[in-house]
Amino acid sequence: MHKKIIVNKFGGGILTKDLIPVIKKRIKEQTTRGYQSIAVVSAMPKMTDYILLFLNNLKENYSAEIIKTFISDIFSKHEQIINDLILDIDLQKKTKLELLKNLENLEKDLNNKKNISNDLEDKVVAYGEKLSAIILTHYLNASGIQAQKILAEEIPIITDNNFKNANIVYQVSEVNINKKLSKIDDVVVISGFTGKTITGEITTLGRGGTDTTACFVGTALKAEKIILWKDVGGVLSADPKIVPEAETIPIISYLEAEESGKIIHDKAIQYVKMFKTPIEIASISDPKKNTKVGLIKKQEKGAKIVSLKKDLSLLLITDENIKVNDLLLMVSEIFIKYKVEITLISNTRYSLQLVANNSNGQLDKVYEELKGKVNKIEMVNASMVFLVGWFHAKDVSNFNDLLVKLKTDLLISAFYYENCYRMEAVIRTDNINKVVKAIYKKFIK
Ligand code: ASP
Ligand code: MG
Repeated sequence: MHKKIIVNKFGGGILTKDLIPVIKKRIKEQTTRGYQSIAVVSAMPKMTDYILLFLNNLKENYSAEIIKTFISDIFSKHEQIINDLILDIDLQKKTKLELLKNLENLEKDLNNKKNISNDLEDKVVAYGEKLSAIILTHYLNASGIQAQKILAEEIPIITDNNFKNANIVYQVSEVNINKKLSKIDDVVVISGFTGKTITGEITTLGRGGTDTTACFVGTALKAEKIILWKDVGGVLSADPKIVPEAETIPIISYLEAEESGKIIHDKAIQYVKMFKTPIEIASISDPKKNTKVGLIKKQEKGAKIVSLKKDLSLLLITDENIKVNDLLLMVSEIFIKYKVEITLISNTRYSLQLVANNSNGQLDKVYEELKGKVNKIEMVNASMVFLVGWFHAKDVSNFNDLLVKLKTDLLISAFYYENCYRMEAVIRTDNINKVVKAIYKKFIK
């Protein structure tokens, strides 16, 4: 008979020499209780960034020399952790050999294709997850836990060919994973963040995509639960660096998790929400600190999380000669052209207010291009503060009142809508932390 399954996601942030032994402990606890434990892993800390940076440099300066250095850097970064964790010399050698074999293939891939296209980029980036899956599997085996590695591409998890941000083709992949795991009772280590198109090319699921793999795997296998392990105590009511007394929230709904934006990857939450898979966010070093995400029988009104987005820009665009619809169309085309993310839009008859995230550094180009096209445009620095929970209309006006009282420059106030799970306002202030503290005190504490 088949065991009940727990799917674990171990992100790059906790794949360190101090925390991998704790990961093993958590897996051991699950197998001891009779579960089949599945570990979905990301690449080692900062590895994806490192690989992407290398590929960008390679675009400008392609040479076999650079590729060689990169391969040996990747090897030594992983070698260090193998030396730290796997003490048995034979097993250590075996792990390194497998690593080297993969890196040989990687080097071939890179030397074969001189133009770095999105599909090559995904193939190369996917090695990050491949290598960490190899190491974790060997480490578990070296620690007496029977484990086997199955790469996403071996399952295979099938995706569309939207390279760098591919989507899992659910039905086929669901069949594939159930088939692949039907005769396995051991611990299984699966490489996250990656998949394969129907024609066999490797894809990645978008940054932070290991959540997506874990939520897909857990849902497709009808797991007892999915646990996203973190180095913090589950979901906190505020950033503890700003609000030291912030606490772990015991339970939140799928909707609240979705609204909070950063708890579970957007793509990932769709699976668990749709199939109501129980999911938990837990602290790797102290699992009692956890937040359950799921159905809440009797949802209560009130605020649960205060959060903020800093370093945004507000663009105020006014042009009495252009209808707001046309204005919006023109403006969005320019934003799309420069791939700048719009966080919020509001409008009056002849004006538009857009809050933009300048994370790709292209906002100035958007601004310059717009300047030549509209009557009046102004750009100011801004932050967004938001509360997640379930709100009455009067909560929203209290929220706006508080922001005015705190003398923030309230640029866009929060508004009420039916089933309001999130209220957000755009403000300009030098002291955003003070604002967050005050909101916490009034609405959460
Ligand atoms: N390693 C990938 C990234 O950094 C996937 C993940 O971490 O979930 O985006
Ligand atoms: Mg990562």
